[in-house]
Amino acid sequence: MQNFRNYGELPDGAFSDKTSKYCAFRQYKIMAKLQNYFEYANKMQTLLEAARRVELDRTENAPRAARASGKKIVTFAPHPDDEIMTGLLPLRLMLENGWKVVDAAVSLGSKVERRKERKKELANACKYLGWKLEVLGFDKVRPATKKTDPEYWQKCVGDIAGLIAKQNPDAVMAPHPKDANLAHMATSQLVRDALKSLEGKYGGFLIETEVWSDMDKPNVLIEAGAMHLGHLMTALSRHVKEVERNDYHVRMPSSFAENVRRGAEVVGGQGGRAPNFNFGVIYAVKKFDGKKWVPAVGSKFVGLKNCAEEIFKK
Ligand SMILES: [Zn+2]
Repeated sequence: MQNFRNYGELPDGAFSDKTSKYCAFRQYKIMAKLQNYFEYANKMQTLLEAARRVELDRTENAPRAARASGKKIVTFAPHPDDEIMTGLLPLRLMLENGWKVVDAAVSLGSKVERRKERKKELANACKYLGWKLEVLGFDKVRPATKKTDPEYWQKCVGDIAGLIAKQNPDAVMAPHPKDANLAHMATSQLVRDALKSLEGKYGGFLIETEVWSDMDKPNVLIEAGAMHLGHLMTALSRHVKEVERNDYHVRMPSSFAENVRRGAEVVGGQGGRAPNFNFGVIYAVKKFDGKKWVPAVGSKFVGLKNCAEEIFKK
């Protein structure tokens, strides 16, 4: 693994307490013993309240990528902010394996009056992470559009296929087909239609993500360290108006903890032992078998001591 040291370090100044600097590998300081679960619950509440008061968009500790490996992932985000919510894998591939990350913004949201501002927030978030931004900015990103306006749907499919052909990535990322939001379901279908139109010309992976509802068969659970969460929450907070509306940036650790609970069972198998991760995200890694997209790898947990690229190894 390249740049192993950078990968494990938290940015300078990320903590006021210097001894807590190295904590990406679970080298945290254990706090004084909790007396009972009421105290634990109360401390969690206090922590969430305090996190809400962190000033938005103030940390300037951009992640440092490993030396470029020539590999690339394009993530198709239905809305600005989805690229971050599902961004752990691209971030780890960039930090550990020198992958280039391209965010393809499928829409700029349904509110026309907010689009200009959302584009700016998105550019600001991608700039922090060192990700390239390609704005597709489609309208009517709904599953029904395929029937009600087939011409426009085909134009969108063509634009996505064109972007994939131009970028020539090793992997593309998109929501799973049942992710319960109309723009997410439509993005899933648009990307699948685009990949179909490229049959034979795209030999990479399709990685499915979930934001709004559980996917059927995730096959990998990858671990997040405090450093990854710090970067992702910072980037997410740059979607200023979105997190003012719904403060999901401060809830990200909780949702990553929940992914470990679920991943232990649905990735690891029923009744199996959970990995000792505090935080993680599940994905479905697929490959085209000539007829359909099928799991590319068996079930696996990729911890912080593993390399992110291991998700692609059988
Ligand atoms: Zn979304």
